[in-house]
Amino acid sequence: MQTYRIAAIPADGIGPEVIAAGLQALDALARRDGGFTLDVTEFDWGSDRYKRTGALMPEDGAETLKAFDAIFFGAVGAPDVPDHVTLWGLRLPICQGFDQYANVRPTRILPGIASPLAGVGPGDLDWVIVRENSEGEYSGIGGRAHRGLPEEVGTEVSIFTRTGVTRIMRYAFRLAQSRPRKLLTVVTKSNAQRFGMVMWDEIAAEVSQEFPDVTWDKMLVDAMTVRMVKNPRSLDTIVATNLHADILSDLAGALAGSLGVAPTANIDPERRYPSMFEPIHGSAFDITGKGIANPVATFWTAAQMLEHLGEAAAAIRLMRAVEKVCADGVLTPDVGGNATTQQVTDAVCDAIRGDNI
Ligand code: NAD
Ligand code: MN
Repeated sequence: MQTYRIAAIPADGIGPEVIAAGLQALDALARRDGGFTLDVTEFDWGSDRYKRTGALMPEDGAETLKAFDAIFFGAVGAPDVPDHVTLWGLRLPICQGFDQYANVRPTRILPGIASPLAGVGPGDLDWVIVRENSEGEYSGIGGRAHRGLPEEVGTEVSIFTRTGVTRIMRYAFRLAQSRPRKLLTVVTKSNAQRFGMVMWDEIAAEVSQEFPDVTWDKMLVDAMTVRMVKNPRSLDTIVATNLHADILSDLAGALAGSLGVAPTANIDPERRYPSMFEPIHGSAFDITGKGIANPVATFWTAAQMLEHLGEAAAAIRLMRAVEKVCADGVLTPDVGGNATTQQVTDAVCDAIRGDNI
């Protein structure tokens, strides 16, 4: 029997609540399928550790994670720690240190969940956003001069490399090719940004030659937000830069009903290092400790993790269970219900154990 070593990093806010839910569902799946077991190690990394020790994770944290098959991550961010400290202290070092350059964000309207878009239901919105996750606007290069003076200057440098853009473009074309509609939209801002963004457009055209069966088009990011709202059926697979895709995927999550249902996978497609799976949302201070965090995004990313590990049948079973529970109306308040995190989790675990899933 296959055993997978999973590093769980629940971290801050509702992170521990949704990771606990996700682990219960994974446990139910492993018991039901019997084909694999999960050996889970939990790490207490996050803002509390930062406040105690001055670091969100130990210096050799990345080295420790290398021994795992996958990382299951909650959310990081605390009201009394600056957001750039938490982000750069935990999540980004893992993504960048393990070269998880493909950030994959599926969005669908699940049965029983209403989209804020009138007349748009399950089947009308079925996207995968591929976010470049290793460079671009979040390369961390820049500086500040003359701090606090009227002549203060801040720079934030975007880095786009041919290697980086080509590999994410290939990943996106390949993913589009694997989906029934074989449709890819390449997003840039190449009218205003003349260098890295024009290079994106050129590389997209080059890589498209390798995928003659994929239909592709280009969009400017501002116009893309309009198309997502006005014509969601016209989109399928989408590829965009680190910053653009970050923003577009929050919008996508909202259009699918809530950030609480939006998952993400930070993938190293070459499988040199562990990949990391997490809900898109943050630590949600406003609902922390209330027991009402929506666990669906975390279930969905757990399904992405199972698929990545090669357990496709379990991944499908988990998503079927989630869809059944949503269709039955067992929903947290963010999607219009009155169930608690634990009630949704119990319903999903029951569905996993059931015969008809
Ligand atoms: P957020 O995602 O934490 O919350 C935005 C809104 O969505 C809140 O009203 C929240 O209650 C709601 N929400 C989010 N997840 C939900 C869920 N599972 N169920 C129900 N409702 C949910 O974003 P924010 O408020 O901008 O940020 C809060 C903190 O989280 C900040 O410190 C921020 O830096 C951090 N953050 C971390 C990540 C990450 O770890 N990947 C991502 C985004 C934000
Ligand atoms: Mn984001």
